[in-house]
Amino acid sequence: MRYSNLHTHTIFSDGRYTPEENVLEAVKRNMTSIGFSDHSYTDFDLRFGIRPQNTAAYVREIRRLQKKYKDELEIYLGIELDGFSKLENRELYDYIIGDCHYIKIGDEYFTVDDSREEQQEVIDKYFGGNPLGYAKAYFDIYTEKTIQNKPDILGHFDLVAKFDLMDENSNVYKSIASQALAECLKVTPFIELNTGPVCRRVRKVPYPTVFILKEILRRKGKIVLSSDSHEIENMTFWFDEAVSLLKSVGFKSVVQMKNNKFEETGL
Ligand SMILES: [Zn+2]
Ligand SMILES: [Zn+2]
Repeated sequence: MRYSNLHTHTIFSDGRYTPEENVLEAVKRNMTSIGFSDHSYTDFDLRFGIRPQNTAAYVREIRRLQKKYKDELEIYLGIELDGFSKLENRELYDYIIGDCHYIKIGDEYFTVDDSREEQQEVIDKYFGGNPLGYAKAYFDIYTEKTIQNKPDILGHFDLVAKFDLMDENSNVYKSIASQALAECLKVTPFIELNTGPVCRRVRKVPYPTVFILKEILRRKGKIVLSSDSHEIENMTFWFDEAVSLLKSVGFKSVVQMKNNKFEETGL
């Protein structure tokens, strides 16, 4: 099948290549479409997001590329919206990926995915060493932000399990994740299978893990295949394997953007 990737990062946030280099790579790979989803701005952590003064240039550049390459590939303008970002001009974007990279305790923000040490410290300090308490707090925030921001796509749903500090096979974890999933799928049926963690060698499986994929299928959610690429070399990283995985779970299709709409494509 021809691939699409709606989760890509460029030099406008923490990616390594320009949007045009990404487009040329997607053309080279004969993809159906590419979507840009640089990180939204967070005023409490300046490392990742698009600076407010660069938003107009980001929008202009992607719209320019849309016109320039219109005969070769569909190009979409999106944003990876962190739950704690304020998005003022939603109408600027063709789609929004809703994500959560932080846990907020009191007035303090702690990254969930930055380092194993930070995650462990927060679990020890605020959750009495219980990773499942931490997981519950994370999924609560993810759900609350999804309901509040109404994204088009649910991004890396179980990011909280990135460092393998919690038992994903425990019934407690499964129940926490499944309840959050049920609530989030009421907001949007589209949820990504994100191969980023396999690419960055932090996990052997993509987000979300297999039991969540089964829950998505059971609840009639729809998968958007994405690589969360920060380098053009990883534009379709592990996509063939992801298709096999999805088929083994029972999925018959994924969703891609076509003519500005989400459309199912057979696997
Ligand atoms: Zn992310
Ligand atoms: Zn991302």
